[in-house]
Amino acid sequence: MKLTRAQFKEDFLAEIKTLYATDLSDTSALNQFIALGHLVRRYDGSNWKQTGDRYRQHDDKQVYYFSIEFLPGRLLKSNLLNLGLLDTVRQGLTELGLDFAAISAAEPDPGLGNGGLGRLAACYMDSMASLGIAGNGNGIRYRYGLFKQVFMDGYQVELPDDWLRNGNVWEIRRENKACLVRFGGNVWMQPQPDGSLKAISENTDDVWAVPYDVGMVGYHNDVTNTLRLWSAELPPSADNTTFSQARRDRIDDITKVLYPDDSNSEGQALRLRQEYFFSSAGVQSIIRHFGLHHQGVKELANKIAIHINDTHPTLVIPEMMRLLMDEHHCSWEVAWALTTQVMSYTNHTIMQEALETWPIEMFKGLLPRLYQIVAEIDRRYRVAKTPIFGEELVNRTAPLGNGQVRMAFLAVIGSHSVNGVAPLHTELLKEDVLRDLYQVYPERFNNKTNGIATRRWVQLANEPLANLIDSKIGSTWRQQPNELKTLTAYQHDAKFLKQLMAVKVQNKAALAAYIKQTLGIDIRTDAIFDVQIKRLHAYKRQLLHVFEIIREYLAIKDQPEAVEPARVHIFGAKAAPSYHYAKSIIKLINALADLVNHDPAIGDRLKVAFIPNYGVSLGELIIPAADVSEQISTASKEASGTSNMKLMANGAVSLATLDGANIDIIEAAGEANEYAFGLTAKAVYGYYQRGDYQAADFYNADPELKRILDTLIDGTIPGISTEGREIYDSLLKYNDEFFVLADYESYVQQQRQIAHDYEDQTQWQGKALANIAASGVFSADLAVARYSDDIWQVPHAKLGQ
Ligand SMILES: *Cc1c(COP(=O)(O)O)cnc(C)c1O
Repeated sequence: MKLTRAQFKEDFLAEIKTLYATDLSDTSALNQFIALGHLVRRYDGSNWKQTGDRYRQHDDKQVYYFSIEFLPGRLLKSNLLNLGLLDTVRQGLTELGLDFAAISAAEPDPGLGNGGLGRLAACYMDSMASLGIAGNGNGIRYRYGLFKQVFMDGYQVELPDDWLRNGNVWEIRRENKACLVRFGGNVWMQPQPDGSLKAISENTDDVWAVPYDVGMVGYHNDVTNTLRLWSAELPPSADNTTFSQARRDRIDDITKVLYPDDSNSEGQALRLRQEYFFSSAGVQSIIRHFGLHHQGVKELANKIAIHINDTHPTLVIPEMMRLLMDEHHCSWEVAWALTTQVMSYTNHTIMQEALETWPIEMFKGLLPRLYQIVAEIDRRYRVAKTPIFGEELVNRTAPLGNGQVRMAFLAVIGSHSVNGVAPLHTELLKEDVLRDLYQVYPERFNNKTNGIATRRWVQLANEPLANLIDSKIGSTWRQQPNELKTLTAYQHDAKFLKQLMAVKVQNKAALAAYIKQTLGIDIRTDAIFDVQIKRLHAYKRQLLHVFEIIREYLAIKDQPEAVEPARVHIFGAKAAPSYHYAKSIIKLINALADLVNHDPAIGDRLKVAFIPNYGVSLGELIIPAADVSEQISTASKEASGTSNMKLMANGAVSLATLDGANIDIIEAAGEANEYAFGLTAKAVYGYYQRGDYQAADFYNADPELKRILDTLIDGTIPGISTEGREIYDSLLKYNDEFFVLADYESYVQQQRQIAHDYEDQTQWQGKALANIAASGVFSADLAVARYSDDIWQVPHAKLGQ
């Protein structure tokens, strides 16, 4: 949009005056952020309204993306960039004597997600708006995020993430769009005059679902879509004095916190309530909106696509059936045909324990009418498929089995499309996790490789790089990330590679300053920045990275005179509060950091920085500074990964197993520009089939590895007597579930190669450039365009190939 600096300054000062009734000099960075947020909302207001008006006038098909998490990160800079106001505002604020960086840092990270799943949903919201797709998000407005992570004595401590403490400038509460969500009670079938039966629910526990809408601003296209987040409240009609405190608390708890502890059944029931709550409220609001503008439900599948992001929103399927039958008088057959045409599902994991199931007794008690519908879906599935596929296969794949409601199976049966998130992952779904359902519905399975929002992860997070790219190839890549491939022509341009290095050093200096300030560690900007940032999980194998650090430490101690490039190992990772083993690894990393960072014999040659409270904003600081991207999960376990793509786009080389989208990254950038290692998925499955993995063999065969493992229990690393033993035993006594020891040798070999290659900075920056140039294919815009073409069947803005 058009806005002069003078006009902006005038607007901003007026906003400060209105909101705070004081002078600019008397306001905090937070005050200034809030004023700026209000102003941006005002600037975007007519786009937001007109986008909705346009969709209605054109009767565009709407996509609804249901996800239990959205992890958008701070929105101020991103909204300004997309509105084309970033430079005007930044300069205007500077002229007012203000610091834009400090104001922007005053915005809290929304606590609406905790990892890759939520971040993907946020990238896709950004892309849908930027491609002009009528895309809506649907999720939960958690009052508290996962937790704020601090370290005490090296242990993770979880503090409440009170991200809404100062309100949220981006949201609009729309109580006029609220609806009731019903839990519990009992259902009976009332005969109707026409001979049909009507489901009557009684004695239900009613919850008032109030939507909060957040604008999702498209890039330079005047489109603003809506992310709708639901909050659970007391129904206004109820006489509030009659609500017991227990009942108030039960309602309050539903949207209180992201990921309640699900290690006990009380926590589990709460999780199921959350899932039904936002699924039901979302589908009710969709049908209501649809009904206002259409005659009858026949058009439904032409006008609506609902996407189920992982299994948490799967109850949209029976909920849609319920609404169509109980409130819109559809027959089962019509309702089912419409529902399956509308729904599509993305699977995000092959980890068996992450495939959700609910005990039937719990499900029935909490959602009696939905249970009837799921049972009827189950019955009809069995009747239709048993003659063709036999009883055994049908028993293995039906929505109900082993006393459980099986959410992934229900999602496949109730959708017209099922996709994995990288080619290997999709193949494993077909061959392993969903193999039986693939027999039944082969035509439903397809791949949609994940993508990232280049706007946030390069344009915003790495402005020095973005500007350098502009200077070389112009700025069309900002609209068409695939244009980045024209950078390949400069892979041997020594001058350009020097500039690329200067950008990296500049970004390293910014991260080094943060590390100094928060952790008190001095790090060198000429060191290799070796980065692993992701949730802490055994399958992601932070442990392998730890072993490399111990190896480097011992090598310096053994041979102080040997010259190797300096290294900084950077971690960011939260562990689930109930995940004991992951927390032990956190303690191990911090104990090792303590040892290494304070050993005078090591000096500045090796440093370990575990940056607490990893999230989107820290990612934006860390990723542009990375030289090496650690993507070292056990092959077959990481469905896709997306930090691998973000790091690639910022010129880090991948040190990677052949897992998830690493395979596609290596193919896109060329093997010579990455460091691949380790067992293939096939080799991992081979071990499973033969049952002949012997971790101890690797320990006994390799003295270097044995020495490293022994440091866990021999006192070399102080302060880890219990954790060291626990980890040591998991590897040797319990046979190393994730093949850490099997991959040690090939991993370390590549780490040695990296140390060697880094010395030749021209060559090294050439590899970095190859990664940046190839990263366009992993843009979320392209991924979302593929979803639109193949699954949702909605038009989108053209993208260059
Ligand atoms: C991208 C991202 C992730 C996902 O990282 P993976 O390494 O792909 O698991 C997790 N958390 C945040 C904050 C992210 O930005």
